[in-house]
Amino acid sequence: MNEKTILITGGAGFIGSHLCRRLLTENCRVICLDNYFTGRECNISELRKNSLFSIISHDVELPYSFYTDEIYNLACPASPPHYQRNPIATFKTSIFGALNALNLSNKWNAKVLQASTSEIYGDPLVHPQPETYWGHVNATGIRSCYDEGKRGAETLFMDYHRQFNTRIKIVRIFNTYGPNMNPDDGRVISNFIVQALKGEDITIYGSGKQTRSFCYVDDLVEGFIRMMSTSNSVTGPVNLGNPGEFTMLELAEKVLSFTNSKSKLVFMPLPQDDPKQRKPDITKAKHLFDWQPKISLDDGLKETIKYFKKVIK
Ligand code: NAD
Ligand code: UDP
Repeated sequence: MNEKTILITGGAGFIGSHLCRRLLTENCRVICLDNYFTGRECNISELRKNSLFSIISHDVELPYSFYTDEIYNLACPASPPHYQRNPIATFKTSIFGALNALNLSNKWNAKVLQASTSEIYGDPLVHPQPETYWGHVNATGIRSCYDEGKRGAETLFMDYHRQFNTRIKIVRIFNTYGPNMNPDDGRVISNFIVQALKGEDITIYGSGKQTRSFCYVDDLVEGFIRMMSTSNSVTGPVNLGNPGEFTMLELAEKVLSFTNSKSKLVFMPLPQDDPKQRKPDITKAKHLFDWQPKISLDDGLKETIKYFKKVIK
């Protein structure tokens, strides 16, 4: 047995549940800590059968203490409608969640990985985005609770590393999708697939010409694990994402075609501060731990559609 004990905060969420499953297949002891703000019991119910898996219901804003070798700090709502639902809680989750993960890491000299985000770059003026870009972020807009919370968390991670030599890893995740997304998540891929499968209108915000780069969740989880296994001198931040870049109109066409749906496109107002373009420069991840995504958007969408067909009524 692999003796490692690994804590995953936000483990009942979309990405967290995949990470829990993957680490259990590697025979690690996995502790999933979550307050179910957006996470769901159904994402992890099957894992409960595994004696190496345990679940703690807890809010990361409050301290917690138990032994761990590694921490993946994922707890934080990630979808704009959900992180804007209680923006103060989102900000506190990022900041206090980071502090509590870092303090636990210091207690056991555990490695701690922060799930940061491409939102660090805001509405970017540099394209594609390398880690050296400082970003173009509004401090007071409706996305700021998330963007500035995540930026503050990165600051805390780097300062803990400089002040206490904490064994940190920061990954900046670009739009990730796949099975276990909540049909009510509100992000573009889940919205389009659910709308297409139900024959409802596909909601395009703005002109639909804004771009995103979509990474399938299995590729992302592989990137997490490779980053965690790097030496202590590798702190990041490191971008993790799929450099394929698509407009929302192109995405809608793919979803309509793969679902054989007759849904119509409807155009709705673009939300405030919605980034116009986004594409990761992944040179650093390739160089540091030989990582690049393997799953194309077409293949990933087909897998995700299979999942949504099973879960929506
Ligand atoms: P998600 O909303 O499905 O998962 C987040 C999980 O965190 C949920 O289980 C939720 O209940 C839990 N959580 C939220 N607040 C909490 C709190 N105060 N205490 C304990 N648990 C709490 O989102 P996801 O897509 O799985 O994202 C996981 C992480 O990855 C997040 O930190 C997110 O910011 C980051 N990220 C995701 C993406 C993406 O495209 N999916 C992109 C960039 C960054
Ligand atoms: N979007 C859209 N229709 C939807 C949901 C989102 O056109 O039903 C757009 C949104 O305005 C943004 C892009 O799709 O330009 C990606 O949105 P998402 O919320 O998935 O992620 P983020 O904006 O955080 O990258």
